[in-house]
Amino acid sequence: MKLATKIIIGLILGAITGLILNFTSPDLFETLNTFIFAPLGQIFLNLIKMLVVPIVFFSITLGVAGLGDPKKLGRMGIKTIAFFLVTTAIAIVIGLTLSSVIQPGNAGTFNTEGLEFEANEAPSTVDTLLNIIPANPIQSFAEGNMLQIIAFSIFIGIGITMLGEKASTIRKFVEQGNELMMYLVNLIMKFAPYGTFGLIATAVGSQGYDAIKAMGLYMFVVVLALVVHALITYGSAVYFIAKYNPITFFKKFSPAMTVAFSTSSSNATLPISMETAQNNLKIPKAISGFVQPLGATINMDGTAIMQGVATVFIAQVYGESLTTMELVTVVLTAVLASIGTAGVPGVGLILLAMVLSSVGLPVAGIGLIIGIDRLLDMARTAINITGDAACALVVSETEKKHMEPQKL
Ligand code: ASP
Repeated sequence: MKLATKIIIGLILGAITGLILNFTSPDLFETLNTFIFAPLGQIFLNLIKMLVVPIVFFSITLGVAGLGDPKKLGRMGIKTIAFFLVTTAIAIVIGLTLSSVIQPGNAGTFNTEGLEFEANEAPSTVDTLLNIIPANPIQSFAEGNMLQIIAFSIFIGIGITMLGEKASTIRKFVEQGNELMMYLVNLIMKFAPYGTFGLIATAVGSQGYDAIKAMGLYMFVVVLALVVHALITYGSAVYFIAKYNPITFFKKFSPAMTVAFSTSSSNATLPISMETAQNNLKIPKAISGFVQPLGATINMDGTAIMQGVATVFIAQVYGESLTTMELVTVVLTAVLASIGTAGVPGVGLILLAMVLSSVGLPVAGIGLIIGIDRLLDMARTAINITGDAACALVVSETEKKHMEPQKL
């Protein structure tokens, strides 16, 4: 049986098991969760997280060294950032539009009394940009600060290119390091069906379902917007710019989407999304290694969609309406806010708090959606990493004529 099929079976079985136990025997769920589901999930999560930092370092360094010419890097960087910004803006607009039309906040009554939400301080975008160049790279590695690791790796990659023969041993080291990481990802992937099973069983089994009834329409709008964005925005980018069949694209990338769905973390899924993009979609290492780690940090379209839908939803619940200027502010804040925050579970709500305060909506409104956010986080993370892969495919197609065959 193919690994992709096994992972999907793991996911479905996990969901069914979690659901049945949730409704029949919460005590049994607790026991099984403590001894089986949670440990399976945690082992898998740790295994893939273990590879994130070295994989980002090796693949970006190798990618930049492989490009051979810093100019190519500049062009690729501009294309990548442009794709990220445009698709994220489209994503929020889809979210804002669908929730304005379907009006989930006006369907039903929502009790806003006593709601609370304490938002952690989100890093300011300016600080993040100023700190991109690490004063201490070892510290960036230790903290897993993705943008700083990316910056450091780019410098090393450029240095390797410029020094040529003089740095050939280091180049070899990076090549072999990358080989080694990809081998380990493949090895760990064999455990993915079990890990996915555990993660999903935990998530579904510990979910309170009363909240879902009340929030059903909101959830529907978010999921609808995610699907529309994936099919239309990514579908057409893949079809028209990358000249690639969108159905094949989604099919081949599905193992990574499934893992993202179960981990709710773009960052943790990174090793698997890169491996899937390189092996299944045949995206050159130099491009996948550059675009995807960057995307895991700064490109979160699924999260942007949730922010768009949630902002309009909360405005409706509180009986406020948003002016066009405020809607534009929402788009800008959401795009900027996403740049500084890494893709880890639940970060979307912190970003949402920023967006709400930018237009003077009550941040406490997040209290309404927090109960069901765990499930939506799964779905939007899958879309987040699909956007990175679509971008990598588009960049790779448009860069083809500039690449030497052996560098692919
Ligand atoms: N969990 C998402 C991610 O890692 C971020 C979020 O929306 O909370 O991509």
